[in-house]
Amino acid sequence: MSSPQIVWLRRDLRLADQPAFHAAASAGPVIPVYVLDDATAGNRKLGGASRWWLHGSLAALARDLETHGSRLILRRGDSAAEIAKLAKETGADTVHALRHYEPWWRKAEEALARTIDLHLYDGNYLMPPGAVLGTSGNPLRIYTPFARALMRALHPSDPLPAPKLSGPKHWPGSDDLADWALLPSKPDWAGGMREAWEPGEGAAYDALAAFLDHADKYEAQRNLPSIEGSSRLSPRLHWGEISPRQVWHALEGKRGVGADTFRGEVIWRDFAQNLIAQFPDYPEESYREPFRAFPWRDPEQDKAAAADLAAWQQGRTGYPIVDAGMRQLWTTGWMHNRVRMIAASFLIKHLLIDWRLGERWFWDTLVDADYGNNAVNWQWVAGSGVDSSQFTRIMAPLTQSPKFDAAGYIREWVPELAELSDSEIHDPADLLRPRNYPAKLIGHQEARERALEAYRRIR
Ligand SMILES: Cc1cc2nc3c(=O)[nH]c(=O)nc-3n(C[C@H](O)[C@H](O)[C@H](O)COP(=O)(O)OP(=O)(O)OC[C@H]3O[C@@H](n4cnc5c(N)ncnc54)[C@H](O)[C@@H]3O)c2cc1C
Repeated sequence: MSSPQIVWLRRDLRLADQPAFHAAASAGPVIPVYVLDDATAGNRKLGGASRWWLHGSLAALARDLETHGSRLILRRGDSAAEIAKLAKETGADTVHALRHYEPWWRKAEEALARTIDLHLYDGNYLMPPGAVLGTSGNPLRIYTPFARALMRALHPSDPLPAPKLSGPKHWPGSDDLADWALLPSKPDWAGGMREAWEPGEGAAYDALAAFLDHADKYEAQRNLPSIEGSSRLSPRLHWGEISPRQVWHALEGKRGVGADTFRGEVIWRDFAQNLIAQFPDYPEESYREPFRAFPWRDPEQDKAAAADLAAWQQGRTGYPIVDAGMRQLWTTGWMHNRVRMIAASFLIKHLLIDWRLGERWFWDTLVDADYGNNAVNWQWVAGSGVDSSQFTRIMAPLTQSPKFDAAGYIREWVPELAELSDSEIHDPADLLRPRNYPAKLIGHQEARERALEAYRRIR
């Protein structure tokens, strides 16, 4: 009998179209393992919402593996050390895993490869980061040429089916998922997340199927937060419960501007990962040099800035669309993309607070918190990134809100304003503003001038 094959799982929690499972299954009995590794990621350990999702996704994968006659082994500690230990215990001499591009995972892969035969596969992106190059042969830094080059190069093969798995003669010991305390208990703040989501591969397919029913309306509806016009696949793609190739494949034959725009959004994921592969510290530093001297208001030094940051986090800025978004985020772990842009712009430009503090808050509160997607989008909104220099494009929340028909969305997330009419709810006049809803932290015009003045100082 051939020796056991370890499958090391991270953000690839699925059975179908999972090349590491596929390769391992054809080589011998398979031992799937997930290591909860808070040390390797350093200051990037998983945030609270991510931990909540991870629990559900691991529980679902464990159930799916059982139905395939297998098991999910759980270990906790330094990934490379734990996997090497597991290999010793089980006599496994090969580890199979999908390649990950976060800097700490790259280091862990290097460390593990020094101790055992590690086979890495691509499968979490349409194309491996670094594979799409410009005409000069260099990696691309701007989305549009990147997307064009990717579309030219992309010939996705059919997704792989779920593998046929056999197990080892003796299963190694496993932690109990409940002991990891990934779910919040005191207090249990996850009620809204339980209502909004069901993690797991099966639920991911259901979500994709539901989206395909209205994919043709995507272009018209994706910017309207009051309706479910987008796919809500982001946590599922982030955790790898479904692969981008499966999503791409499911769209085959779907023509029209809706499907094309959607494909373009899926390519943003690949784009973000390409930037992370080129600039591994992208979430930690403004890419554009002058931004490193930007006169941010610092909540650690300035009490008013600290109060503004807290008001933004709690959805109490006095700008209904911003507050609705921040409360949706806190309750469900997700925020509509248009509102993410408005809320991010508000923190950076209206409140003059460093984008990295916003990125951190999203890291802790999003169920789709992603090292690449999050930082690339925050730097894009700030205009501090490699791909955009549009600090002066200051979003006007009070104009955006009626433009994207956000009245229903505000009613849902800011119930204090629910009684106001469609025309009043976006920017309630002082007389109509309920007493339990805060006044604006700063007026739009004043904020705009202050932001432009701050920008002039670094230009
Ligand atoms: C400030 C800010 C922070 C963000 N942080 C994250 C994050 O941490 N994780 C994350 O997955 N997305 C992030 N996004 C991108 C985007 O908001 C979400 O991917 C999207 O809202 C998810 O909803 P959906 O699945 O319905 O998207 P759809 O519109 O249905 O798009 C399909 C898929 O394409 C990908 N996608 C769409 N838009 C983007 C984008 N702008 N950048 C990268 N990928 C994209 C997602 O995987 C998404 O599931 C952020 C955007 C902003 C403005």
